[in-house]
Amino acid sequence: MKMFDSHVHSSFSGDSETDTNIACVTAIDKGLAGIAFTDHLDIDYPNFDIKFLIDFDEYSKTMDGLKSSFSSRLKVLKGIEVGLQPHVIDATGEVVKKYDFDFVIASIHVIGGIDPYYGEYFRCNPDKKTAFNRYLSEILNGLNNFDDFDVIGHIGYIRRYCNYDDKSLKYDDYSDILDSILKGVIEKGKGIEINTSGYRTLGTPIPDLDIIKRYRELGGEIITTGSDAHTPEHIAWNFAEIKKALSDIGFNYIAHYENRKPVLEKIT
Ligand SMILES: [Zn+2]
Ligand SMILES: [Zn+2]
Repeated sequence: MKMFDSHVHSSFSGDSETDTNIACVTAIDKGLAGIAFTDHLDIDYPNFDIKFLIDFDEYSKTMDGLKSSFSSRLKVLKGIEVGLQPHVIDATGEVVKKYDFDFVIASIHVIGGIDPYYGEYFRCNPDKKTAFNRYLSEILNGLNNFDDFDVIGHIGYIRRYCNYDDKSLKYDDYSDILDSILKGVIEKGKGIEINTSGYRTLGTPIPDLDIIKRYRELGGEIITTGSDAHTPEHIAWNFAEIKKALSDIGFNYIAHYENRKPVLEKIT
């Protein structure tokens, strides 16, 4: 089947140095049919050193150039990963509207003004349950207040950076709020992203397989696969394994987005 990596960062993101041409060549080498660049837009990101803001005129022009120069070998898609904090939702929507993106991932990277990437977030919360519940509530809030996106990114992002012995975010422990999120996604006609970066450090995808299974049980059909690569060697990370795992769960298709519409590829 044609596989797409729908979550790749380049040097347009404040936390990546990947050259866009090298990313495209790597994607071809790894046998992908397409790649979506999803560089960060995190307005009012609470860190002075790393600004997750992009010159979108330049970004858009570069993406259009890549689309045409690779057109016979690789489908290049112009995506964006927007970080939703409650007070930046309107400003984020303005950027999304202004450019002809193929694909928009909505992610939560900042909770109550702190990115869990920094240990401070876990010191501010008394226990894992509180820390994880606050994160999930923030996703639900984003989902309820923002419509101009295609998939919710990496549900379980917080697992990457927590220092608990057990870094899992299991469906059974957060079932009520996870059901609200997953049902909300389905009702809105959106999808969820299966982020394989989890395999690099946690041994499971983000979200974990039991949550993906629950999404399917609830009637969820739209899933995209993304490596969240910030360096070329991580592109298409564990894609053979995830394809099998998704098929075992009962999915027949994996989607990617072109012109903000899901294109379904049958899993074979
Ligand atoms: Zn992210
Ligand atoms: Zn990302």
